[in-house]
Amino acid sequence: MSVPILDIINNISFYGWVVVGGSVLTVLLSGVVYWQDITKRSSKFFFIFGIINLIWGFVYAFFEGSFGTADTQTGMVMLYIVAAIVAPFLFLFLYVFSVEKSRISFWEYVALFLPYFIIVGIMLAFPDIIVKYVIVDGEPSKMVFGNSFWIYAAYILGYVIVGLFLLVKKYRESAGIFKIAIRNLLGAVGFACLAAVLMSLFSPIFFGGAHDFFWIGHLGVIVFLFVGTFILAEYNFWNIKIIATELFISIIILMFFIELIIAGSLSGLLVKFVLTLLVLFSSFFLVGSVKREIQSSDKIESFLKILDKMHERLKILDKKKSEFLSIASHHLRDPLTAIRGYASMLSEGSFGELSRPVYEAVEKIFESSGRLITMIDDFMDISRIESGDMKYVFVDIDLKKLVSEVFTEMKQHAERMHLAFHIKVGNENVFGEKFITVGDEGKIRQVFSNIIDNSIKYTPQGEVFVTLVKSPDKKKIIFGVIDTGIGMNESTKEKIFRKFSRADDAGKSYTEGRGLGLYVAMEIIKKHEGRIWAESKGEGLGSTFYVELEGKP
Ligand code: ADP
Repeated sequence: MSVPILDIINNISFYGWVVVGGSVLTVLLSGVVYWQDITKRSSKFFFIFGIINLIWGFVYAFFEGSFGTADTQTGMVMLYIVAAIVAPFLFLFLYVFSVEKSRISFWEYVALFLPYFIIVGIMLAFPDIIVKYVIVDGEPSKMVFGNSFWIYAAYILGYVIVGLFLLVKKYRESAGIFKIAIRNLLGAVGFACLAAVLMSLFSPIFFGGAHDFFWIGHLGVIVFLFVGTFILAEYNFWNIKIIATELFISIIILMFFIELIIAGSLSGLLVKFVLTLLVLFSSFFLVGSVKREIQSSDKIESFLKILDKMHERLKILDKKKSEFLSIASHHLRDPLTAIRGYASMLSEGSFGELSRPVYEAVEKIFESSGRLITMIDDFMDISRIESGDMKYVFVDIDLKKLVSEVFTEMKQHAERMHLAFHIKVGNENVFGEKFITVGDEGKIRQVFSNIIDNSIKYTPQGEVFVTLVKSPDKKKIIFGVIDTGIGMNESTKEKIFRKFSRADDAGKSYTEGRGLGLYVAMEIIKKHEGRIWAESKGEGLGSTFYVELEGKP
């Protein structure tokens, strides 16, 4: 080589460096693509194409740097020889991507590369018949094409056209997001081919033998490699974040290697070598952890999506269930009310005197239908609570009066169960003490009845004591029901306010219970911004239920 390499490097134009830099970057990118899935043949050929492009870029830079010197003819022939290999490798990538063939046989490789070796042979044997370098005195030197340039052009165009044709075919056969990805790939590779053919292959014809726009052809291919990376990532469902991290790390490692190569002293070389190793190792772990993190967050994201969908579906089902419950309950309640009404009239003798056994049977019908109605009411309340249809009418309530009324209503029932039944409303020493709260009267009555009714149900013997007092600061009103019944343990105290929740042995005292009354009571009291809770010293030691409501001054 007659011109020192440093002179050649100094001679390289800005665009030459753009080509070299861009090719290095895209070889890293295509390497990252290959790294995503080394079993994928299209990724592998994409990477190989990236490497070939890098070699082409280096040779172009050499050619540029040597232009106008004694090495020009060599540089030019080298450039054309290397440029010629770009076409079959591009074809190879497009072929593997489009046909997705698992194996390419030896003979297929031979068939694919044979034209290349023929072209190279021709160029080496007769360098002038394809392209030559002409120096005319007094004029800028220029490139001219020889008589056989058309063979070279036809060779390049042949690969490009067939490759593009395969991709178009694949595009037409695909659907959905794959079709979109292939369309984008077609756009990128089409642009690269156009740029390379016009600006690298034919540009000396258009520009009077000047090679000034060769770099545009390279740039087209670099753009294709760059865009192609993201299209392939999309096509293969790879994560762009992982690709970006890997690219970033590859750039850092590359920089360390360059530093290593140009290290001045032995000690500097050693330090840089150790540093490079450290970076290499830590990058390896970094990429691994980024991958794991992204994969797990992707998993969580997809789980969340599934959960979201399930939640929506459950909400719909729940609404349907509530609607069904409410319709069914209405249809059950109406005939039951009629049965209960007639039973009551019968037992009161409205249709004549009843014999003892008939009277007792009618009483049983009356009680059972009453229980059924309560149960249906609970179901209806629940369906209203859950569909948000529970309506409240807030008015001033005289709790003293209300509690006394509920007590009177329940008295007969308690006596029938042979229980002592007492009441203490307010402090008799305080004259004219008022127990007013703001609330829905019907609903508060329902809660109080339910609590007293429970105490009667779950107290086999002893007494039930109903109280109404004020908190020490007189701001709250506390309704309490104390019984000497079955009591409850700590865990039962917590769970009985949940839907369908009962004490384990509740069935012994009252078989028909459904564990709904206290849940409904809790919901109602919450709407009144009050509190409801249970206390008990333990099983068999009785219970006390409290409801605390805001007192109106
Ligand atoms: P139900 O009485 O229909 O089962 P509730 O929601 O009214 O439904 O009560 C839930 C559970 O709370 C009861 O099954 C019972 O286990 C417990 N419970 C309620 N009141 C008392 C009480 N006074 N003494 C002991 N346990 C009670």
